[in-house]
Amino acid sequence: MIVGWMPIHQASPLLRLRVRAAAESKIRARHPWLFAESIREQNREGRVGELAVIYDRRDRFLAVGLFDPESPIRVRILQADKPKVIDDAWWRERLQQALARREGLFDAQTNGYRCIHGENDGWPGLVLDRYETTFVLKLYTAAWLPRLDGLAALFRRTLPADQLVLRLSRNIQDMAGGQFGVKDGQVLFPMPSVSGAGNKTIQGGKTSTSLLPSFSVMDKSVVTFLESGLRLEADVRQGQKTGFFLDQRENRRRVESLAAGREVLNAFSFSGGFSLYAARGGAVSVTDLDLSGHALESAKRNFALNQSVAAIARAGHETVQADAFAWLAEGKRRKFNLIILDPPSLARREPERAGAIQAYAKLAKSGIEALRTGGILVASSCSAHVSEAEFFGAVRQAARSSGRRFAELDTTGHPPDHPATFPEARYLKCIYLAS
Ligand code: SAH
Repeated sequence: MIVGWMPIHQASPLLRLRVRAAAESKIRARHPWLFAESIREQNREGRVGELAVIYDRRDRFLAVGLFDPESPIRVRILQADKPKVIDDAWWRERLQQALARREGLFDAQTNGYRCIHGENDGWPGLVLDRYETTFVLKLYTAAWLPRLDGLAALFRRTLPADQLVLRLSRNIQDMAGGQFGVKDGQVLFPMPSVSGAGNKTIQGGKTSTSLLPSFSVMDKSVVTFLESGLRLEADVRQGQKTGFFLDQRENRRRVESLAAGREVLNAFSFSGGFSLYAARGGAVSVTDLDLSGHALESAKRNFALNQSVAAIARAGHETVQADAFAWLAEGKRRKFNLIILDPPSLARREPERAGAIQAYAKLAKSGIEALRTGGILVASSCSAHVSEAEFFGAVRQAARSSGRRFAELDTTGHPPDHPATFPEARYLKCIYLAS
């Protein structure tokens, strides 16, 4: 028998689904999503976040997952293959598996990294990032909302955390505020010191006392942490993603090893991550280019935080607030001999894919035009809808059409704390070209 996890009241009878043949094979192959149109039969209406058990045509167990009646991804699978009791011990073990996977990856010089990377760690639609002693829980599906108390309690017991901050993807913010009384940027623990912190939340029409504080505001929304010995800041309450682009760490390390003696342009710099590594690696100068003034202010503070590193203190640091596409396309700018292009996702939906490929090609072309002979171009894409082959193809084509000779130094993908275990999860790719 499968029992609902303690904080959510599992309605009876159990929610049971039968699915179409194609979905059956996908689930057997461990794909983590069941789409609404793949459901053949359902014994009753399901509520957001309750457990749904999926059966094959012969009524054999296939999987159990989190149900979401509003989402086209109707079930996010937690446990496939063998039925298991989803109880507190199950969740503890699932968390331990994710933590064990990261053991030995980072030394004391790096205390900012991803602890749980969604589906790829068996926690569908849920991300947990560590920034020293602040942990950020980001939810991409409403199905976790009824389980927030249980999650907060589990993380509090298990992690070396002073505080846990909740972040919500935009699509679930209204529901989170309305039905569950929580909001983006809220601190889940520690509890605020004000009296009566216990908050009433409504769960499935029943009022229960939650351990979550209501809409408490953080003392500090910007925290600092270490990445490869650099002290960096993350705005965990308002910053993009969970406050920092932890996924680019390995590429930043690579850039450090390539930067000696170079004049560096860091386009789409955000808070200057690539630039700090380049400066430490011996770059003569680094230019951060970003549309966002906030991002550039953060880059300046990050440089200030690392002035004890002689190479960083020595490197010239400049910021330019501009649209990087336009700035680079203008073409009459000064030239550089190491250029990093790391734009935001250019295809958020499938129909944007073709346009995105063109935009990557155009960006690479402008980057190459700003690159001196002997220079290195580092071009990255975080669009899941653009494949590795399409992205690398676009950049290679731009290099060929420039008429200059380029050697391909490397291509890279996902870092080990952001594993990708199914096709839709692969988003990050990066190519290194030397002229
Ligand atoms: N390379 C960064 C992450 C880049 S995220 C790192 O290692 O941390 C993408 C950045 O592009 C964001 O900071 C965003 O403000 C910026 N951005 C978005 N559109 C832009 C544009 N048209 N021109 C310049 N910057 C842009």
